[in-house]
Amino acid sequence: MYLLSGPGDPTVIVVVGGGISGLALGRELAACGADFVILEARARVGGVIRSDQVDGHLLDWGPQRTRLTRGMAELIEQLGLSAQLVVAPSDRDLFVYWGGRLRRVPFTIGDFLTSDIVSAAAKVRLALEPFTGGPDPEESVARYFTRKAGREVYENLVGPLYGGLYGSDPADMVVGRSLHHVLREFGVGRSLVTKLLRAGGRITAPPACSFADGMEALPAAIAASLGTRVRTGAAVRALIRRGPGWSVETATGTLEASAVVLTVPAPAAAHLLKPLSQDVFQRLTRLRYNPLGVVHLHAETELSGMGFQVSLTEPLALRGVTFNDSLFGRTHVYTAYLGGGVRPDVVAQDDDVLARLAVEEFRVCTGYHSRPLAIAREEMPAWDRSWAALDGLRLPPGLHVTANWESRPGIPGRLARARALAGTLMG
Ligand SMILES: Cc1cc2nc3c(=O)[nH]c(=O)nc-3n(C[C@H](O)[C@H](O)[C@H](O)COP(=O)(O)OP(=O)(O)OC[C@H]3O[C@@H](n4cnc5c(N)ncnc54)[C@H](O)[C@@H]3O)c2cc1C
Repeated sequence: MYLLSGPGDPTVIVVVGGGISGLALGRELAACGADFVILEARARVGGVIRSDQVDGHLLDWGPQRTRLTRGMAELIEQLGLSAQLVVAPSDRDLFVYWGGRLRRVPFTIGDFLTSDIVSAAAKVRLALEPFTGGPDPEESVARYFTRKAGREVYENLVGPLYGGLYGSDPADMVVGRSLHHVLREFGVGRSLVTKLLRAGGRITAPPACSFADGMEALPAAIAASLGTRVRTGAAVRALIRRGPGWSVETATGTLEASAVVLTVPAPAAAHLLKPLSQDVFQRLTRLRYNPLGVVHLHAETELSGMGFQVSLTEPLALRGVTFNDSLFGRTHVYTAYLGGGVRPDVVAQDDDVLARLAVEEFRVCTGYHSRPLAIAREEMPAWDRSWAALDGLRLPPGLHVTANWESRPGIPGRLARARALAGTLMG
């Protein structure tokens, strides 16, 4: 049994969950000199960010990479992880599969005009985009992109790339929930094309990166920097209101806290909040998660690039592949994602069926033979229409959330949200 602070002096912030959301918040709180503890249910930190050696191959189960944004670069430097950093070569292309072959994604207007990603008619149609209306928060992401750029550009270019970020179907995603903030962040008003022209006709993004020991090196290094303030094997079982603060019950003891921050997936948050608010419980249980089959493949290929997404018009179970070989020099390793919001049915199949689908459809898309190395099933918050359940959500006082279902799910977004929440918590 441990007691961090007496009932009369509960100044400790308890962070529930040791994935990247909880750990990034821990870094920020430590920098502010706050008293806090991170409680993680499992024996290892990182949540969905997991890396393993399988048959001599380094495999990542969750994210294969992140973006080397300024915030990420600073964090890597502070953690002493620079020597482990692996940055993808800048000449690696991204592809979309449709109509029997991989097609290179253009990142400049010039490349778009000469590419085979869409037909000549679809390119001409894009010239009308500046004359179409701006985003309507109530419309679907599919309708927004189709209305703006035409059906072909949506189905074969923007739709698979945007949906792929969430493992979701853009037809089920709503602009006000999942796209508005991205458009705002990039300064897009009414017209995407006008914004692109103002930016020199080129879309740029920070390079993709990982680590020599895989993505898990990042949460592991953050946890190491926080020392005993991170406790693993400490599943939180109950949150109990105590005056202005909280009692946080775990398998091994109770902590008194001035504030509690939940960073756990929505179903786990719903379970913890059920005794406190039926309304919050019901809202959180309405949030949908998309199932993803992750199949690591071994293939000897000449493929060069970041990977590919599959057009929304192709009825494949395979929705995207990361070329770990070409991106980070992980010899012969390719990571196939199946199912998601477009084909959720396939993820319930047996491992043998998932592996066979991955191998067959990898060959359809690339022409190369492969064999399965390992299989897992993951889930991603869908960020679809079910997110309307969060409208008007009122958390109990002294309880906060930073999670991939509450704000942007990508790792750079998790770091940014941690910084903002630490500011709120520290006043
Ligand atoms: C397959 C996949 C691919 C992805 N690809 C990318 C990508 O390429 N780039 C990118 O930027 N992002 C990517 N993401 C998104 C990003 O990785 C996640 O959104 C982010 O890592 C989630 O972190 P989190 O800390 O919010 O949640 P989680 O990682 O889910 O962590 C929550 C933690 O809470 C713990 N927990 C749960 N219940 C309790 C409890 N009662 N008590 C204590 N602890 C508890 C869990 O054990 C877990 O460790 C991907 C995600 C997935 C699943």
